[in-house]
Amino acid sequence: MCGTCGCSGESDHSAESRAATLAPPAFGNLLRRNDLQAERNRQSLDRNRVLALNLMSAPGSGKTALLEATIRALQGSLRIAVIEGDLETENDALRIRALGVEAHQITTGTACHLDASLVAKALQALDLERLDLLFIEDVGNLVCPASFDLGHHRNIVLLAATEGDDKPAKYPVLFRTADAVVINKTDLLPFIDDFSIVRATDSLRNLASHAPIFPLSAKTGVGLQPWLDWLQQQVARYRTLRDQGKALRPSLPPDHRKIRAPTELRFVPVASQSASG
Ligand code: MG
Ligand code: ZN
Repeated sequence: MCGTCGCSGESDHSAESRAATLAPPAFGNLLRRNDLQAERNRQSLDRNRVLALNLMSAPGSGKTALLEATIRALQGSLRIAVIEGDLETENDALRIRALGVEAHQITTGTACHLDASLVAKALQALDLERLDLLFIEDVGNLVCPASFDLGHHRNIVLLAATEGDDKPAKYPVLFRTADAVVINKTDLLPFIDDFSIVRATDSLRNLASHAPIFPLSAKTGVGLQPWLDWLQQQVARYRTLRDQGKALRPSLPPDHRKIRAPTELRFVPVASQSASG
């Protein structure tokens, strides 16, 4: 279980049931503190015109593989760095550094999400003046990362073809915040009979999400170009907004604090939580 949010990242329980495991005032304060630090993070990124993207997905969806493929393609045109979030190990940062790109590994121990103060420490270790684009790879978890503003600008959610195409329906809080959705591992589609890009798209659109969807294989590179074009557009759009003195903020769940107000909490018995996991 997560040390701060009480969430078990790999289970299927809802944001509501997770919230019910927490002392509401304490968690509300935690999120308020987090949001303040996130604003400070975003200010230092904005001073240096560094667009920061948060990558979120279940464990094993291929976030690091997507970053490797993206870095190989964009390395010549954009100056990139990566912040890696994992419970333990420096493995993902080592993979990024092998490409000659600066990577800062955050190990969260028991916490199943990154938060703004962890990212603040990582930002201090990076030379922001020399960057255009910063990827933050959140801890593999489809539940609580959605609620923690890290000071980034855009949310990217990955879904692998080896997962269910109903993931958006099952994890609406996270998928609704997505500014773009990547469907990875499409090279495996011929061997998988229960994942369809059409159904995954329907599942996302049913959440009233207009986020662009990029089906691709980070492994083979097929389908990568539209994703790369979108990234370049985001950098250009961000720079235009900065020139106009405008801010760019990621979507947060509309109720990301309200949901934890005591009157709105639904207390779910522990037995039914573990049964749904
Ligand atoms: Mg990874
Ligand atoms: Zn968590």
